[in-house]
Amino acid sequence: MSRVYNFSAGPAVLPEEVLREAATEMLDYRGTGMSVMEMSHRSEGFQQILHQAEADLRELVGIPKEYRVLFLQGGASTQFSMIPMNLMHNGAADYILTGQWAKKAFAEAKRYGDAESAASSADKNFTYIPDCSDLPIRENADYVYICENNTIYGTKFHQLPNTKGKALVSDMSSCFLSEPVDVERYGLLFACAQKNVGPAGVTIVIIREDLIREDIYAAAPTMLRYKIHAEHGSLYNTPPAYGIYICGKVFQWMKERGGLSAMETHNRRKAAVLYDFLDHSRLFRGTAVAKDRSLMNVPFVTGDAALDAQFVREAEEAGLVNLKGHRSVGGMRASLYNAMPLAGVERLTDFMAEFERKNG
Ligand SMILES: *Cc1c(COP(=O)(O)O)cnc(C)c1O
Repeated sequence: MSRVYNFSAGPAVLPEEVLREAATEMLDYRGTGMSVMEMSHRSEGFQQILHQAEADLRELVGIPKEYRVLFLQGGASTQFSMIPMNLMHNGAADYILTGQWAKKAFAEAKRYGDAESAASSADKNFTYIPDCSDLPIRENADYVYICENNTIYGTKFHQLPNTKGKALVSDMSSCFLSEPVDVERYGLLFACAQKNVGPAGVTIVIIREDLIREDIYAAAPTMLRYKIHAEHGSLYNTPPAYGIYICGKVFQWMKERGGLSAMETHNRRKAAVLYDFLDHSRLFRGTAVAKDRSLMNVPFVTGDAALDAQFVREAEEAGLVNLKGHRSVGGMRASLYNAMPLAGVERLTDFMAEFERKNG
């Protein structure tokens, strides 16, 4: 068996300890004689897994009791419609457009009401985060929406926008659990699991209780109502049971390693290694504005598409995989989620230095 350093933006690297433990429980989960994949979601065994996962997540993040945690399906993209359907009581919402995921969410919101762009960084291909300290947030806006970490462009809101008292809704798909988060600053935050938390198929929503209401978009399907999932404790229908089980193991893995502040320290150290290299390189350069750089996703280029392709190819041969950038930025992208070890980033920068010597 040989494992590679996987820099994929998602689905992404998971902690090897978690995968090993899941492997030992694959055929017989703790004396039940079956895999978690084969268990009824109504069984005591699975209820225990679900409750433990929520309890560990609450402890890890410090989720206040007036917030509900929902384990849903449909990926982050389903939240793009669920949010306006459930939260647009006045029929209006203001979106901050910092990349493709925010734009997609904005396009969905327009189906249900009066969604407006309050700010955008489209003018410079989303390489920065606009100043959001004094935006024209509308009086009747039900919420202000952001994509907090822009997976494709490698930017992050290091300061949350001034929402002028409106509820903040955040897509945290690619930064959730990478550092401490002050949940009380949000009305709703959500993340698909496959970036930093677990396997694809689980979407975690953390929502303030007063935002879970009955009087929502009338034609909203039952499955797209927060209230239904909250009332049934994420068991209205069959949840993504195996995925939740793996997420639970990842939460425990993070707790054992010191929780979210330890994750932040580890992530800052890794990102610093790569950004320092980029800032001193003669061949490679990062594409995001320095002050808005993400700790999780680092896009970079040589400026020569053929050389970029050669780099991606040779890196793969050296066991450094999934470094090809998103087609809208080009070049390369290294995603450095929690489970990426520091040694992986050091191997990458060593490889980049060698490539620069040969081709620079
Ligand atoms: C990956 C990603 C999405 C899309 O997630 P799906 O689960 O594929 O719908 C949305 N937003 C952000 C920030 C992402 O990184």
